[in-house]
Amino acid sequence: MPTTYDVIIIGAGAAGLMCAATAGYRGRRVLVIEHARRPGRKILMSGGGRCNFTNLNSTPANFLSDNPGFCISALKRYTPEHFLELVERHGIEHEEKAAGQLFCQDSSREIVDLLMTEAEWAGVDVMTRTTVATVATSDSGYTLATSAGEFHAEALVVACGGLSIPTMGATGFGYELARQFGLDIIPTRAGLVPFTLAPELREQLAPLAGISCPVAVSCNGERFREPMLVTHKGLSGPAMLQISSFWEPGDALGIDLLPDQDASQWLTEQRQKHPNRSAARALGEELPKRFAQAFSELQGWREPLQHFSRADLTQAAQTLNGWQLTPAGTEGYRTAEVTLGGVDTRSLSSKTMEVHDQPGLFFIGEVVDVTGHLGGHNFQWAWASGVAAGQAV
Ligand code: FAD
Repeated sequence: MPTTYDVIIIGAGAAGLMCAATAGYRGRRVLVIEHARRPGRKILMSGGGRCNFTNLNSTPANFLSDNPGFCISALKRYTPEHFLELVERHGIEHEEKAAGQLFCQDSSREIVDLLMTEAEWAGVDVMTRTTVATVATSDSGYTLATSAGEFHAEALVVACGGLSIPTMGATGFGYELARQFGLDIIPTRAGLVPFTLAPELREQLAPLAGISCPVAVSCNGERFREPMLVTHKGLSGPAMLQISSFWEPGDALGIDLLPDQDASQWLTEQRQKHPNRSAARALGEELPKRFAQAFSELQGWREPLQHFSRADLTQAAQTLNGWQLTPAGTEGYRTAEVTLGGVDTRSLSSKTMEVHDQPGLFFIGEVVDVTGHLGGHNFQWAWASGVAAGQAV
C-alpha cells in the first residue's frame, strides 16, 4: 500500500518549498520529494552566495513568456513586499544593492533555512535523495513509484525547475512529466548566460578582459543599461546576461559605450576643447581608464583628436554609440541562471497553476514558461507561483 498524502511536490527548490509551506499551513498533509542530497541548492549559489531574493520594482514587464499575461495574477497576489515581510519576520538582514534588488546581507543559506523552517512549522515532510521513477494516475489522484517506495496523493505539484546548472541537480524531469500528460513545451534554451566569442575576436578583445564598463546593450528591440564585463572566454556582466535572454544565434549585439551622449557631438566638442588629446585620454573621462585605453588601441585610435578627419570622427562616433559584436554562442545550460521556455502556460490556470484538463496536477516555478530578467525577478516568480498553487492544492 502506498503511503498517502494530500499533496506531493516534486522538487525542494524555491517554488516547491514555498508551495509546501503554504499548503501545509492550510492543514494539507504535504510531502516534498527531492532527488539531491540537500534542498535549495540553487538558492545557496544564487546572487553570488547572497541570494537576490526579490526585486521591489518587479512587474509583469520583467518577465518573458510566450503568453505574457499569464504571470500577472500570481505576481499581483504575492508581491515582493509579501516576501520581504517574511524575510524580516525571520530576522534576516538584507540590503538593496541596485535599485529594488534585495540581497541577504550575510548568506543565501538564510533563505533556505527560512523555507525549511516554514515547511517544518507547517508540518511538511521533506524527503531528499529520493528519485521518482514513474507517476501513474487513478480516480483518486497520483501514485509515484520512488526509490523510497510508493506514495499517493490527490494533488501533484511539479516544481523541478529548469535545465540550467545540471551539476546542481537540474533535470528535464518536469518537462517529461508535462509531455506524459500531453502538455506542450515552449522550446527551451539557456537564459541569463554569458556569451562566447570566436577565437579570433576573443584574442582581439583580450586586452579588455577583466574590466567592467557601464554600457547600454541592445538586441532584437530590447535594451539594458548595466555594466558589461569582457572576460577571457567572452562577454559577461549584468548587461550581457540580460540581453542573452533575447539573443538568437547569429544576431549582433549593439553596445553603446556612451549611452548618455551623442558620441558625434561629444567627439567634436572634445576635438575643439582638447585638440592634442588622444581618444584614449578623452574617453578615459567617460569610461574606466583601462577600458578606454585598451578600446582605443583596439580601434587603432592612436593620433591626437585634431588629426581625426570628419570621416574618422563619424566612424568613431558610430563605434562608440553602436559597437557591433556578434557572439559565437552562449555558455549554455552549464552556467545559465535560468531556462527560457518550458511548460506552455496556455494549459495552466493563471490563478492556481493547475492543468486545465488534468485536475490535481500543478506546475510552478522555472519549469513553467515564465522567465524573469536578472535582479531577483526569478525568485519572485518562484514565490508567487508557489503560493498560488499552495493556496489551491
Ligand atoms: P529550483 O530552485 O531549481 O528547484 C528545483 C528543485 O527540483 C531542485 O532542488 C532540483 O534538485 C529538484 N529536482 C529536479 N529534478 C528532480 C527530480 N527528477 N526529482 C526530484 N527532484 C528534482 N534568481 C533570482 O531571482 N535571484 C538570484 O540572485 C539568482 N541567482 C542565480 C544564480 C545562479 C548561479 C543560478 C543558476 C540561478 C539564479 N537565479 C536567481 C535563478 C533562480 O535560482 C531560479 O529561478 C529558481 O531557483 C527557480 O526555482 P524553482 O523552484 O522553480 O527551481
